[in-house]
Amino acid sequence: MQTVITKMLGIEHPIVQGGMQWVGRAELVAAVSNAGALGTLTGLTQPTPEALRSEIERVKSMTDRPFAVNLTLLPSLKPIPYDEYRAAIIESGVKIVETAGNNPSAHMPAFKAAGITVIHKCTTARHALKAQQIGVDIVSIDGFECAGHVGEDDIPGLILIPATVAQLSIPVIASGGFGDGRGLVAALALGAEGINMGTRFMCTKEAPIHDKIKQAIVDGNETGTTLILRSLRNSSRVARTALSESIIDMEKQGMGIEQIGPHVSGLKGRGVYEVGDTEGGIWSVGMVQGLIGDIPSCAELVHRIVADAESLIEGRLSRLCKTAAAA
Ligand code: NAD
Repeated sequence: MQTVITKMLGIEHPIVQGGMQWVGRAELVAAVSNAGALGTLTGLTQPTPEALRSEIERVKSMTDRPFAVNLTLLPSLKPIPYDEYRAAIIESGVKIVETAGNNPSAHMPAFKAAGITVIHKCTTARHALKAQQIGVDIVSIDGFECAGHVGEDDIPGLILIPATVAQLSIPVIASGGFGDGRGLVAALALGAEGINMGTRFMCTKEAPIHDKIKQAIVDGNETGTTLILRSLRNSSRVARTALSESIIDMEKQGMGIEQIGPHVSGLKGRGVYEVGDTEGGIWSVGMVQGLIGDIPSCAELVHRIVADAESLIEGRLSRLCKTAAAA
């Protein structure tokens, strides 16, 4: 299944694994890229720019296929040396970068000078338009169903994807809520050139997270997420747990990041994935967990999605057209 983005990114299938804090490590990235999709290393998961350089080399030792590095631009509890992370990405010869969150304009001249293809992930059509104006190559538009930072406009993909496609001349990847062949067909029908998946790739054999978290996603359903940090205009979709409910209570009491910060800290979230304790910290998951029922390898998953999408188009959808034509 070839689309504009398979050609631009040099991949076999129109499927991208998006950046995920603590999850997007070399093992997962290489497995996704080796399956013919685009793996994405999460830059800020690495504690220093030097560690990111080493992790990029680890990916290169495991795959000779294209892969991306994610650089997320959002508020953080500790200052992040973004210029040094950017230099690590460029000097390591990475050819595709996924920026996410705030406007990446400060980084664009250096990425473009290095010949890097930039995918910017954002949650509104107006931010997508701005991204196009500052020279990004592809927009990944993230609907309200998504895990992690959902933005503040709450527009689900069914509206957000075609509304964004209609306003842009550059290709659009559909993100948020995708996990199977039906979703891929829907994204293509809405005008996107492919899909971005996070939560679905967390539930793969190669995802470097504890089996108990993968099982919690398999056991969970579409109602098992909630939004935290809404009062700080940094809304984040996370697993609905006693801890995330208590954060919402703190927000209702008017507490700010000074009081909430220690409870939502990413370092505690990392522990969740390492130890497998769903209450050990805040962890991101999308509504698509309601559609996830197994833990395949990345290759099995990617091939199944493409095969299911093709048989849906050539089977049921074609039959509907033929039936309509015959009537
Ligand atoms: P962290 O420990 O610095 O912060 C924890 C949470 O609090 C994050 O959601 C962060 O955005 C939020 N936060 C921090 N300071 C804030 C403030 N002043 N106002 C409002 N919200 C605030 O986060 P971390 O897990 O160590 O991650 C480091 C960075 O990577 C953060 O910017 C985070 O948002 C971002 N991130 C990246 C991905 C990804 O896929 N690449 C996913 C989630 C988060």
